[in-house]
Amino acid sequence: MVDTTMEKNPRIGVFICHCGTNIAGSVDVKGLVEYAKTLPNVAFATDYQYVCSTPGQKIITDAISEHKLTGTVVAACSPRLHEPTFRTATKEGGLNPFRFEMANIREQNSWVHMHDREAATEKAKDAVRMAVAKASLLQDLEVKTVPVEKAALIVGAGVAGMQAALDLGNAGIKTYLVEKNPTIGGRMSQLDKTFPTLDCSQCILTPKMVDVYRNPNIELMTYSEVEAVEGYIGNFDVTIRKKARGVISMEEAEAKGIKGGGCNGCGDCEPVCPVIKPNPFEMGMKPRKAIYIYHPQVVPLLYTVDFDSCIKCGLCVEACGEKKAIDLEMMDEFVKLKIGTVIIATGYELFPVEKKTEWGYKQFDNVVTSLEFERLICASGPTGGNVIRPSDGQKPKKIGFVLCAGSRDNTGVGKPYCSRFCCMYSLKHAHQIIEKIPGATPYLFYMDIRSFGKMYEEFYYRIQDEGAKFIRGRVSNILEDPATKNLHVYTEDTLLGRPVDVELDMVVLAAAVQPMEGADTVRKLFGVSCSQDGWMLEAHPKLNPCGTTTAGVYLAGVCQGPKDIPDAVAQAEGAASVASIPLHRGFVELEPYFAQCIEEKCAGCGMCVNLCPYQALSLVEKEGRRLMQVTEAKCKGCGTCGGFCPGGAIWMQHFATPQIVAQIDAFLLGGEQ
Ligand code: FAD
Ligand code: SF4
Ligand code: SF4
Ligand code: SF4
Ligand code: SF4
Ligand code: SF4
Ligand code: SF4
Repeated sequence: MVDTTMEKNPRIGVFICHCGTNIAGSVDVKGLVEYAKTLPNVAFATDYQYVCSTPGQKIITDAISEHKLTGTVVAACSPRLHEPTFRTATKEGGLNPFRFEMANIREQNSWVHMHDREAATEKAKDAVRMAVAKASLLQDLEVKTVPVEKAALIVGAGVAGMQAALDLGNAGIKTYLVEKNPTIGGRMSQLDKTFPTLDCSQCILTPKMVDVYRNPNIELMTYSEVEAVEGYIGNFDVTIRKKARGVISMEEAEAKGIKGGGCNGCGDCEPVCPVIKPNPFEMGMKPRKAIYIYHPQVVPLLYTVDFDSCIKCGLCVEACGEKKAIDLEMMDEFVKLKIGTVIIATGYELFPVEKKTEWGYKQFDNVVTSLEFERLICASGPTGGNVIRPSDGQKPKKIGFVLCAGSRDNTGVGKPYCSRFCCMYSLKHAHQIIEKIPGATPYLFYMDIRSFGKMYEEFYYRIQDEGAKFIRGRVSNILEDPATKNLHVYTEDTLLGRPVDVELDMVVLAAAVQPMEGADTVRKLFGVSCSQDGWMLEAHPKLNPCGTTTAGVYLAGVCQGPKDIPDAVAQAEGAASVASIPLHRGFVELEPYFAQCIEEKCAGCGMCVNLCPYQALSLVEKEGRRLMQVTEAKCKGCGTCGGFCPGGAIWMQHFATPQIVAQIDAFLLGGEQ
């Protein structure tokens, strides 16, 4: 039975914050207090410099008993920032914590109306009046607790996903690490060296990959993707699609009773395969077969059949022989997991820089991207670490690096944001060619060099000292000399104030980054929002950078925005830490802002059921009637159903119709209600 009774004799306390001069600079706080005292049901009103401070909160708790308050209103910043603080203060004063309402007079008022004190004060009066009207009708609500499944899911096994998995696994938590590629490692495994320390990327990554593989609490699910998600924090039901790999592991072979069978990575199948495709790990610069591994250090060491190109000739099966590891009839499998919390770490890909046609990528052979350059300079790459011009295999002597290639671009073609790691890796690339090619000169075309991290500025000085040439200006155009295949880079040197044309052997574009293809599907499956530029949106940029607005879902690494390896790893450790809290506690508390069915009014029409975006509603039979029922743990309190029900049969706790109507009346009727 829904309790629709309201407080009969409301006594509201109003507490108005100065926030230093943040609010008091634009709003007449003293005048607002006097105004609040005149409002119906207000038993007490006061102001304080910083209401969120310990003495500020004490004013609230003391006033509740002193003035026998039935509800509190704090006029200050946003509920997102301090609602929990003031709920606690209200509770400590002896009231139910949901007998509290907040009026935002900072973000929505003083900060935006700082030049019109009078209008800002009038607007603050409206906000306080509306909050008091609602607070007068607030009810006691109970927080619900639900048990949590002690298992975590991580989507994406780049360096961020792996780090999070290791932290959770080492904390004794069962962790499923789902990676869409046949191997873990992500982009970092494609890199040669890493700035600013110049340590070999694979050398520091491979031990981590092996640790992940060996950790008894981590279940690795490579070549797999999230197919469907249901449920809520503590109780997600996740379906994983394990894509048909065509090859079974030694463990799988043992389970099938194939003694000594399964893939041991011997590679005998590869040479016999007649199908040749470009290897995406090598940025297409090296071929692979239809049965393949990306590179020798893959984890797990297990071959994969690319069924999109395999012609099922069976030669590989023959070559594999008694190991019986290849199954050309393998089908996708679906695995259902019960999960408590989730970390998304789906990373990034390069912006398709050919869209900026003026730089000639994919038109001129000797224009390459930064990731192609990483593979070219890597000893295990397609050229064995010899940097050569794609057009003629010659060693380039003059190499240009075009920074901000597609980043900081407001033309509508590129990306408006800074991709954050391209300045630093371009400096690294400049160092690498000076080191590897005697007599070579790197030319860096830049707008600003953003070397913000620890030891980064020092690294920048070092590259300057090594003889790299820096030309400050955005490259307007690159043209090819058809005879020599040399490239002419045109820009304005903004320090000299004159146009320049530099003839180079090769150009590397430090392409912008963008969210990984397919990450949007994952994002939507977990109900995570995205920012304007497509990166997954954190719950709060400063105070909750790993959380999302979906309880129990956290973010790590570049999927949340461009960041280099140290920052990606740091965020992964943060995400693992917050994701482990509900798992260790064993339960979570749900805000009681649920929809409730007022049974006497419900006609059982079922129209609300399909409207709920979270599948929280169903129809049930009760005493010969069909009635709507809410699964509270699934309800997010969005209000969609409440606003729709033609019979007014849905009661939105804490946002009930009488409470909202009272607010609207208070606004429209001013003090005349
Ligand atoms: P990623 O490495 O992109 O990993 C994401 C993983 O998620 C991938 O394995 C991907 O396959 C997987 N995935 C994606 N979608 C799904 C899905 N739907 N389902 C399952 N799995 C999915 N940083 C440095 O600090 N030092 C350097 O020297 C350096 N050099 C760089 C050079 C270049 C040319 C570039 C482009 C970047 C460089 N970086 C460097 C940045 C570095 O690559 C990133 O900081 C790092 O790779 C971020 O790791 P991540 O785990 O967030 O993302
Ligand atoms: Fe500033 Fe909000 Fe604290 Fe007041 S309660 S001092 S507005 S942060
Ligand atoms: Fe060797 Fe067979 Fe594995 Fe191929 S599939 S690497 S032949 S064990
Ligand atoms: Fe290659 Fe497919 Fe033939 Fe095997 S069956 S050798 S993977 S084409
Ligand atoms: Fe441009 Fe440097 Fe930002 Fe990359 S990191 S977008 S190169 S300023
Ligand atoms: Fe009941 Fe209203 Fe839902 Fe119809 S729309 S089932 S009346 S709650
Ligand atoms: Fe679904 Fe929103 Fe209604 Fe809750 S309030 S039942 S989430 S429509």
